[in-house]
Amino acid sequence: MTTLDPIPLWIDGRPVDARSGRTFATENPATGKPLATVQEAGPEDVDAAVAAARAAFPAWSRMTGTERGRILHRAAQILRERNDSIAHLEVLDTGKPISEALAVDVASGADCLEFFAGVAPAIAGEHIDLGSSGGGGAFAYTRREPLGVCVGIGAWNYPIQIACWKAAPALACGNTMVFKPSETTPVTALELARALAEAGAPAGVFNIVQGAAETGRALVEHPDVAKVSLTGSVPTGKRAMAAAAGTLKHVTMELGGKSPLLVFEDADIENAVSAALNANFYTQGEICSNGTRVFLQRRIRDAFVDAMMPRIQRMRVGHPLDPETTIGALISKRHMEKVLGYVESGLKEGAKLLCGGARVTDGACADGWFVAPTVFEAPDDGLAIVREEIFGPVMTLLVFDDEDEAVARANATEFGLAAGLFTRDLARAHRVAARLEAGTVWINDYNLTPIEMPFGGVKQSGLGRENGLAAIEHYTQRKSVFVQLGDVATPFT
Ligand code: NAD
Repeated sequence: MTTLDPIPLWIDGRPVDARSGRTFATENPATGKPLATVQEAGPEDVDAAVAAARAAFPAWSRMTGTERGRILHRAAQILRERNDSIAHLEVLDTGKPISEALAVDVASGADCLEFFAGVAPAIAGEHIDLGSSGGGGAFAYTRREPLGVCVGIGAWNYPIQIACWKAAPALACGNTMVFKPSETTPVTALELARALAEAGAPAGVFNIVQGAAETGRALVEHPDVAKVSLTGSVPTGKRAMAAAAGTLKHVTMELGGKSPLLVFEDADIENAVSAALNANFYTQGEICSNGTRVFLQRRIRDAFVDAMMPRIQRMRVGHPLDPETTIGALISKRHMEKVLGYVESGLKEGAKLLCGGARVTDGACADGWFVAPTVFEAPDDGLAIVREEIFGPVMTLLVFDDEDEAVARANATEFGLAAGLFTRDLARAHRVAARLEAGTVWINDYNLTPIEMPFGGVKQSGLGRENGLAAIEHYTQRKSVFVQLGDVATPFT
């Protein structure tokens, strides 16, 4: 795929070759064939990107929010105009079905740019009256100031969306950014850089470096970086947070999960099944918030399984560029082997396999990393497939008897990214939502992440929030300014 070669860095408003002289290669997960050669940022490239972002910061942060918002808005329009070509690149890079990428990946990134374009002019401090009983009076105000150079580090499942989810709020608040996509999916971040540049973002406001953990570490440890927002696994998040502590950087950590979906016996079964399928098989299961532990109240277990199985049979595992495909390729051979390893462990530990459980190599799937949609039923919550994040098309059903039991079992995990519940009982819905330990709870739906709603984890699933007005908290800092209108009080006469 020579059209993608060689992927440059993007520093100070233009594509540049890595000073390191090093490159790395990526592959198309659907074919196992080489996809792109990517220039790898070394320490001198990281320095150059951070320096460009630092140099751009004063002018960018002094612009009005309206001016910054206008640029973000234009960038969103450019992404929307290029939706189909960027979606195509995203499919080559990730292996996800084109039907999803055309509808969701670019559009959700553009939504984010539009949301924060609108928010930018409204970012403001507050006025605090401090009374005037002592004479002249005093007041304080707070300024909401940007942090400086922010680093964004992405995962490989939603590359362009993640880049936008980090860049849009950071830039709206007046920060500048150095973004590092996952080394597995380096292609589409450049499309965001181009769109921002064409929309009028000054050179250095948004920069891209390419590379893996070593490049990520150099960014996180860089003394001129004020904040790190990382999307990735829990172990990576812990390492990055520990490194960021060296210079006490702000952090947002969007990490992994093992989220529960509770289906009570009064639920609308067809809708609960729809949600469970979305919660486990969209993007072939490679979604952080997936509801992979599906708890069914005993009385509806059979009805749920009977309604779900024919719908799984109708799923189409196939080439990601085929518009009929609903299950694409997993990101890499190694990841596919990890997912299949969990299937093996589930069987060994006594789970019952209801469907799937194997690699698919028919027809167009011959050379890629495809796994059939898989459903287990587990006898208890101790199995590895119930406790650990698999990040593939593997759902586990678990049966429960009452609400207290369901909530206790749902919460018995170190993760806390998301949760869902299905019931027609309004009181129960809100009671259970309040008791679930998760950053997001969906009632009678699953995995919707509208840009207006804050998103992030509790417990070991993360810190901070992306999206919604909440993100502004994480890309600004408050300065308190005290103003004395009268005389200075002092005992030192
Ligand atoms: P990963 O943890 O392997 O890598 C994430 C990113 O961190 C990559 O860009 C990687 O190069 C970088 N990195 C690795 N080591 C680093 C270090 N020491 N310092 C700085 N950066 C470093 O994750 P992945 O395999 O790319 O993605 C899958 C994981 O991401 C899953 O656990 C999934 O749940 C999680 N995820 C979370 C969210 C969310 O919003 N909560 C969204 C998508 C994915």
